[in-house]
Amino acid sequence: MPEAVFDDDCAEAPSAWGVRRLRPLTQIGRAALDVVLPPLCLSCQTRITAHDALCPACWRQINFIRPPLCDRMGLPMPFDIGGPMLSAAAIADPPDFDRARAVARFDGLMRELIHAFKFHDSHNARRLFGRWLVEAGQEILKDADLLVAVPLARWRLISRRFNQAQILAIETGKQAHKPVRPFALVRTRATAHQIGLTRAQRSRNVAGAFRVPPSELPAVSGKAIVLIDDVVTSGATASAAAAVLKRAGARRVDVLALAIVSDAHS
Ligand SMILES: [Zn+2]
Repeated sequence: MPEAVFDDDCAEAPSAWGVRRLRPLTQIGRAALDVVLPPLCLSCQTRITAHDALCPACWRQINFIRPPLCDRMGLPMPFDIGGPMLSAAAIADPPDFDRARAVARFDGLMRELIHAFKFHDSHNARRLFGRWLVEAGQEILKDADLLVAVPLARWRLISRRFNQAQILAIETGKQAHKPVRPFALVRTRATAHQIGLTRAQRSRNVAGAFRVPPSELPAVSGKAIVLIDDVVTSGATASAAAAVLKRAGARRVDVLALAIVSDAHS
């Protein structure tokens, strides 16, 4: 039986029939919306030509991560040798995930957009972030069987009302036509914020923080998984989550995030 595609709107797998049937309606809806609400930049509210986008001035403020990249950590490398490259950090201290990719550096406007998304879910930001994730994750998504989100600790879920990594995973799955298992990985305990901790402290902080529930084991076993997170700070959380998925039988685990703290692996 094929994996269920988790859809946040209807909680059902959209059939090919359903997608074909809905598309013209969506287009009509969009055209009507343009008359009532002209498209505005998600950051500065300037009028623009397309929905769910940034104006050129805001777009230029995002520090998009561009190749050449360290194949493992996904961080930019100073030069291109014309094939897969590994950074010194990836060689010295390899993480438990196979490859990581991120849309942009976690600074300036990107930080503001993610912060706003954490506290006020917006459909427009969700669609833009989904497009960015699909583009940045092209290479790893094409090999993926399944998308899984990095779960938040319960107390953080309550304070933020929803888990933004789950929302991003669902949106990315929808846009990349990949199945999502939103509950394949759960937190076993709350962890302290990673900011300000040393590498060793970060690893200790997240050790044993995740598990795969027994009911999810058949879905995870033998699969190539892309783990979705909003921000990768140290790589320790993603690495701990990847280790748990691999122990549960995952064939490979790649990481796809909206942003990465640029000195995360130094
Ligand atoms: Zn703008």
